[in-house]
This record gives sequence, structure tokens and C-alpha cells, in this order.
Amino acid sequence: MSDGFPALRPNDYRDTWSGQVLPDRVDSEVRVAGWVHRRRDHGGLVFVDLRDRTGLVQLVFHPDEAGDAFELGHRLRSEDVIAVAGPVVRRSPETVNPELPTGEVEVRVTEARLLSDAETPPFEIESFSGEVSEEMRLRYRYLDLRRDRMREGLELRHRVASAMREFLSGEGFIEIETPILTRSTPEGARDFLVPSRLQPGSFYALPQSPQLFKQLLMVGGFERYFQIARCFRDEDLRADRQPDFTQLDIEMSFVDTEDVIDLNERLLAFVLGSCGVQVSLPMRRIGYDEAFDSYGTDKPDLRFGLELHLLTEVFRGSEFNAFRQAIEGGAVVRGLNAGRREMSRADLDGLVSEATELGAKGLVWAVVEADGWRSPVAKFLSAGEMAAAREELGAGEGDVLLIVADQPLVSGAVLGELRRRLGERLGLIDPDANELTWIVDWPLLGWDAEGDRWDPLNHPFTSPAGEFDPDDPGSARAKAYDVVWNGWEIGGGSIRISDAEVQRRVFGAIGIDEREAEERFGFLLDALRYGAPPHGGIAYGLDRMVALLHGTESIRDVIAFPKTASGGDPLTGAPAPVEERQLRELGISVRSGVGKG
Ligand code: ASP
Repeated sequence: MSDGFPALRPNDYRDTWSGQVLPDRVDSEVRVAGWVHRRRDHGGLVFVDLRDRTGLVQLVFHPDEAGDAFELGHRLRSEDVIAVAGPVVRRSPETVNPELPTGEVEVRVTEARLLSDAETPPFEIESFSGEVSEEMRLRYRYLDLRRDRMREGLELRHRVASAMREFLSGEGFIEIETPILTRSTPEGARDFLVPSRLQPGSFYALPQSPQLFKQLLMVGGFERYFQIARCFRDEDLRADRQPDFTQLDIEMSFVDTEDVIDLNERLLAFVLGSCGVQVSLPMRRIGYDEAFDSYGTDKPDLRFGLELHLLTEVFRGSEFNAFRQAIEGGAVVRGLNAGRREMSRADLDGLVSEATELGAKGLVWAVVEADGWRSPVAKFLSAGEMAAAREELGAGEGDVLLIVADQPLVSGAVLGELRRRLGERLGLIDPDANELTWIVDWPLLGWDAEGDRWDPLNHPFTSPAGEFDPDDPGSARAKAYDVVWNGWEIGGGSIRISDAEVQRRVFGAIGIDEREAEERFGFLLDALRYGAPPHGGIAYGLDRMVALLHGTESIRDVIAFPKTASGGDPLTGAPAPVEERQLRELGISVRSGVGKG
């Protein structure tokens, strides 16, 4: 770890990093500084493990050699900050610690200074193993950050960001900042608003992404832009969401899908490769429809099989009412072969409950036997249906089959989620495997039944593939692509609309009329009329990428100061009420009762 650390320029506190007190320093004097990681008294000697960012080194306070410092050594407590000096000596063979790079030596302290006295920390830094509540960890984040695992996460994050900058700079991209106080950029979430004092009653929106600015930079002739950009989305938080999060944002001109994909495959190979994950190129590509039909999701985990299969045709006209009527009502029947498994009746019924909790009307299970199926519905199915389903699912004797008949999105999503859970539960996932894939050939729009309108699957600036027919918006495909890694969407982008007229038509199809388009996006429509090159790009979720590289589920583990699941920051207390005077200046009044209690 301390390898690659630049040598220190000596000052009054220290001349050597703790992690660099190695055997080659034996017989020389060093000055080191850091935190008391651990202290023990032993046979009249005081031993201290001193910690700085580069690692640990053992200090020995000897009553005869340490002089006045011995008394200090005696009083030291965990997390005190000290600076010491003394000769480096070789440890006797039986006291060598093979776990530590510095484990063959120790510093015999001759001088010591207490730089800062530490109160007893609310949780132990050293032996912390996850039993401390997250609230506590975030409230005392500066202590939590002292732990190896946290430090390593942020160091890794820095490595990833540096590799991104290095690769993109080498390809002629330049990093350009875009505003934080701006207007709404529709990425499908709620905006965070910031009231304007100078224009009371008006608000800035924090950017959900730099989308419109990066397009304007292309119109501005920059051709190759990137930014490690903070984005803000006021969403209900889930485990993997933060109200402010970081994207690697990229845009390029005079390109089509293949160019963007090529650049990004090389980028991913470089960045992940520099963190020890080999990406084989070209990456796999799966069409959106195929992803949904085979995995029930647009972010499939490809580290294991258990693919979904369509069984609608097998059961169309079945004697089994539940299937036949569902199909007549537009349902799609999907099945999955879970393989030869020992599953009890309770396990199988448990899967039925899971399916209904996930929103399906039911789930049919079957175990393939020599002469038919063992299944609660076997008596309703013909031998021909069972044989055809068995063939479609490639099933052999003893295999467990799961079947869901429901509206197309529901049967896909439910069985897809069961597939994911079974993959985990049955131990089918090799934790060292890495499967990266592109999801391509997206529909441009999706029908939002609740809002009774078409919505962009990506964002409204995504270019249709081919002519866009406003009379048949549902069949339009998009020049869009996502990158999925082990079941996580880590990035996504598209070729953009670079023609004002097409942009207007797409706005129209999603219910943004001329007047609204002019009011909200007039500046973009204007720009598109002043010579807009064809352009496209992508954005990656940096937090998620680093979390995956770090082997942690939670992006909070790779963000220095994250917020809790309810959007609060236990360290600073944000969000917090403000002074009445501040509200008055902003022309804002908070309805009484709001926010109290
Ligand atoms: N702005 C998009 C997003 O945040 C990414 C892109 O289209 O480049 O998802």
C-alpha cells in the first residue's frame, strides 16, 4: 500500500511515512506521526502501533531509552495524535509480525510529542466489523473514514477517476464544468429547487445530469467533452440511491452508435483493467426485447443461466382455464427451468408467495417426472402441453419448472426477479466472474398507463432510429445503449436528436406542446437551428462502478459523506430548518406545521 507513495519532504512532524519504515531503514533515525492505533504495556515497555494513511509501524517506549517520552507513552490512548522520533531497529525473530510490511522492524522512541488528545471514540476503529449502526458511522464519519476498508474505497475511487481522466484526455476529450444552479433537465426524477433571492418567486433547479449542457457544448464545437459531474435527483431513496451522486459524463460529435460503443469499450477495458478486472472486447450485446424475454429485465445478470422462455403458444387454447383465459386477456406465459433441485413443497410454495408479493397473480411450479409432472396443476394440463413446455425449457427428469402467466411486463419482471433470487440462493453466481454487456435497440417510448401518455424510456433528447412517425410512437426504436455489469446498470446513453424539427415531433409525441417546448427548451431548439453536429454520448454512475469494484453492495461505502436512506446527513444535520430572516429574504413562507414534529 505504501508502495508508490512519494517520499515525504521532511518537516517538524515527520520525515517518513509509517508504512515506509521498512528493513532498509534499520539503524537510521526516523520521525513519524499519526494516530495511536493500539497500545499495550508489556514487561515494563509500552508498545504502540502508529497509524498513518500508508499503514502501521510499531513504536517501543523503553523506560531507559525514551526518557521523558516514556511517561507520555504510558498515558497514550487509542486515537491520540502523536509525533515521535527514534532509531529503526530490527525486531527479534520471535516478535516479527508477518502480517505487516513493517513487521520486521520497530522504532525505539527517543522523543515524543502529543499533538492531539483523543476522547474515547464512540466505536472502535481497530476491530470494527460492521456491528455499529450506519447512523452512528455517518454521524462520526471522520472516525469511520479512518478504517482501512473505507480508506481503500476512496483510494480506489480516486484510481478509477484518474484512469477515466487519463484515458479520455488521451483520446482528445476535455473536461468542462457545467452549472449547478440551472434549469430543469428532465431525466425522469423530481428536481431539487433553489430559490432565487434576486428574483423572488423564481427558482433554479439543480441538474439531474449535465445532459443539455453537454449537447450545447457539442453545438459549441468542443466535439469531445467529459466531466466527473455531480447530479441531483429528488427521488425516494433506495439502497443504491443518493440524492446527489456522481456521473462520468461524456459527449462526442460526428459519431453514430458504433463510434460511441467503440470508445466506451476501450474506456471500460482501460479503467476496469487498471483496477484488476479484465474486460474482453468486443463486449456482448443484447437487444432490449431479447433481454426482457430471456431475463425479464433490462439489466440482466449474465453470470448464470436460468433463462426465461416464452410458453404462450404452448398453452394457448389449454384446458387449464387460468392459462387460457389469461392468454385471451393479453397475458404472456413465461417459464424458467431451475434445474434439478431438491426443493421441498414448502420451498416451492414459498416461491408462489414471492411471486404474488412481486405482483403476479400466481406462479405454477412443476417437477418433471418420467411420466408427467408433479404439480398442483398437472391434472389440468394435457400430456402434449407438458411435453411441449418441457421441450421449450430443455427440461429433464427431476428439473424444477416455474411458470407465470400474466400481463407481459408483469410475467417478465416477476419471473426475472425470481431468476435473480434463485441465482443467488442456489449459489449459481461465481463471485469472481465479471459479465459486461451492452443493452441495445431500445424502444424510444413506453406507455405510461397511469399518466395516460407516452414517456421516453431514456430522456426526450434521444434520437429515434430511422424516421420518427408521430402517428405510431410505440413502434419507434431509439439509438440508445446501456452498459450492464453483473446485473447492475452502470451506464447509459444515446445518439441525440440534432434536428430541431425531429426534436419538436418527439416532444409532441410525449405531450410537450409547442408552447411548453419553447418555454422549457427554447434554448436547445434555438441551438439546434444554428448548426448542430450529429452527436451522442453516455454517462456512467461512478458511485456504483466503484462500489462494484470494491465488492460492496452499498454505494454509501464509496462516498466520503453520503446521506442516509431518508436523505439526511447525521453528521451535519442536513437538511435543517433555516432562520426566518433567510426565508423572508427569499420571499418564502413555510406553511405552519410543515416540518415540525
Ligand atoms: N444524461 C443521461 C443520464 O443521466 C446519460 C446520457 O444520455 O448521456 O442518464
